Amino acid sequence: MTAHLPIAEPSAVGRAAARLVRADGRAFAGVLGLNALTAAAGLVGPWLVGRIVDDVQAGGDMGAVNRLALTILLFALAQFLLARWARYAGHRFGERTLARVREQFVDRALTLPASVVERAGSGDLTARGTTDVAAVGTTLRDAGPEVLIALVQALFILGAVFVLNPLLGCCGLIGLVGIWFALRWYLRRARAAYLAEGAANSAVTEVLSATVTGARTVEMFGLQERRGTAIREALEVSRRARTRTLGLRTVFFPAVDFSYVLPVVAVLMVGGLLHAHGAMSLGAVVSAALYLRQLSEPLDAILMWVEQLQSSSASFARVEGLGAAPQVTPAGVPVPVDDRIDVVGAHYAYGAGAEVLRGVDLTVRPGERLALVGPSGAGKSTLSRLLAGIDAPDTGTVTVGRVPVAALGPEQLRRHVVLVTQEHHVFLGTVRDNLLIAAPTARDDELRGALAAVGADWAEELPSGLDTELGEGGYRTDGSQAQQLALARVVLADPHTLILDEATALLDPSTARHTERALAGVLRGRTVIAIAHRLHTAHDADRVAVMENGRLTEIGTHDELVAAEGAYAALWSTWHGGQER
Ligand code: ADP
Repeated sequence: MTAHLPIAEPSAVGRAAARLVRADGRAFAGVLGLNALTAAAGLVGPWLVGRIVDDVQAGGDMGAVNRLALTILLFALAQFLLARWARYAGHRFGERTLARVREQFVDRALTLPASVVERAGSGDLTARGTTDVAAVGTTLRDAGPEVLIALVQALFILGAVFVLNPLLGCCGLIGLVGIWFALRWYLRRARAAYLAEGAANSAVTEVLSATVTGARTVEMFGLQERRGTAIREALEVSRRARTRTLGLRTVFFPAVDFSYVLPVVAVLMVGGLLHAHGAMSLGAVVSAALYLRQLSEPLDAILMWVEQLQSSSASFARVEGLGAAPQVTPAGVPVPVDDRIDVVGAHYAYGAGAEVLRGVDLTVRPGERLALVGPSGAGKSTLSRLLAGIDAPDTGTVTVGRVPVAALGPEQLRRHVVLVTQEHHVFLGTVRDNLLIAAPTARDDELRGALAAVGADWAEELPSGLDTELGEGGYRTDGSQAQQLALARVVLADPHTLILDEATALLDPSTARHTERALAGVLRGRTVIAIAHRLHTAHDADRVAVMENGRLTEIGTHDELVAAEGAYAALWSTWHGGQER
C-alpha cells in the first residue's frame, strides 16, 4: 500500500479543464453569450432610473417617466427569462462535461495495470471514482455555472460604472480590493480551522459513544471520574475549535459587508462633488450608486462557492492524476515466436518489502504439465502472477516466445497465457455478453461449443438461450455455474498456456467434481502450470517443481524426486501417509 496513484500537477489540471471546455466549445460559447445578455438586460434598470431622475429634475412630463418605468419592467422580465435560459444552458453544459469526465475516468481505470491498482490499494481508485468525481460533478453542475453567471454579471456592472464615469469606476474597485484581502486572509485560515472543528466534533462523538457503550465497564471499574474528565477535555477542545471558526466568520463577513458599502459611499461622495461642479448629471450618479449596490449579489455568489471550487479542484487533480499513472503497454511489442515459457533469474518484492522471489529459473516446454508445490508463503502465487503477466519481475525476465509476458497487451496476452483462479465474476448482461469478453468475434456455435466443452449443460436449457440475462434480476448462476462460465471464456480465448492457482480443495465436493470435469475439457493439449495444494495433482504432472523461501529447490518427475529423498519426498510421504490412513 505504499505507491499511491499520482495526483495531477496544477498546470496539468488547468490544461485538462481547458480541454474539457474546448471539447464542448460551442455550448460553452453559448452559455457565455446567454450570460452576457442576461447581465446586459440587468444593466438597463439602474440606467433608466438615472434617466427618470434627470427627467424629473428637468421638469419632464409624466408620460415619458411612465414609459421609462414600463421599460424597466420589461427589461426586468427579459432578464428573468434570459437568466433561466442561461442557467439551464450552463447546467446542461456541466452535465455533459461531467459525463465526459466520468467516461474518461472509467477508460483510464480500465487500462491501469492490475499491479498498479494493487499497489495503490483499490480503495484509492474507488474514492477517486466516487467521492472525487462527485465533488467535480457538484462544481460542474452547480458551482461552475453559478460562478460563471456571477463573474459575467460583476464584470458588466463594473464596466457600466466605468462607462458612466471612470472615476466612479475606480471607486467601485476600492470595494473589490477590500474583498480580495478579506478573502485571502480568510481562506488561508479557514481550511485548517474547519478541519480542526470537524476532527474535534468526531472526537466528542467518539468519547461519548465509547463511554455509553462501555457504561457497564465504566461502572464496574469506577472509571466515571476519568471518563468525565475525558469528555470535558474533548468538549473543551471542541469549544475552542468552534470559537476559532466563529472568530474567523466574525471578521470575514463584516469585512465583506463593509467592502460592499464602501464603494457606494465613495460614489455618492465623489459623484456628489462631480455633480456639484456640473461634471455629471444627478441621474448618472444615482445609476452608478445603484449599480454598485447590485454588485454585492454576484460577489456573494462567488464567495459562497469559492471554497467549493477550491476543494473540487483538489478532487479534479486526483481524478486527472489517473492519466499520469503507467498504462498497460500499448502496441509495438513484438509477437512471441513460440509457446515456450522462460523464467530467468527472476527476483521480486512487493513494494519496498523483502524479496519474495529470490532468483527463480524455470523453463516450461509447450504441452508440458508442471506442478508447483511448496509450503505456504514460499512464493508460488507470486510466481504465478509473474507467469500470467500481471506483474513484471524486478530483475530477471519472464518471457513467452522470447517476449516479456507483462509487456503483452490484453489481446495478445489472453491468446498466450491465462491465469485461472477460483475468483469468478459473472458480469451483468446476457450469457453471450459474458462469453464474448474473451473472444469478441466468436460465432454463436463457437460459444455453444465452449459451454459444452466445460460441461455447462444448464446453459442449453436456459429460457432465452445465449440471450438469457444473468445477474441481478436475471438468471442467477450458482458457484459452479459461474466457474464454468469463466472456464468457457478460457476455452474461447484459447491460450496455449494455463496457470492454475488450484484451490479446488476449498470447494465443497460436488462443486469440486464439476470443476474438475470442466477443467479436463479446458486443459486438453495445453501447457499447464498448476500450483498444487493437493499432491495427487503433482503425482499426475509431467514434472514437479518445489518452491521454498522464494527459490526453486527441486525439479524433476515425481518418481525422480521421490527417489532423491529430498523435500518433495518428505512432503509426499507425509501427505500420502495421511491419505492412506
Ligand atoms: P504462496 O503462494 O507460496 O503461499 P505467496 O506468493 O502468496 O506464497 O506469498 C509469498 C510471500 O509474499 C508471503 O510472505 C506473502 O506474505 C507475501 N505477499 C503475497 N502477496 C503480497 C502482497 N500483495 N503484498 C505484499 N506481500 C505479499
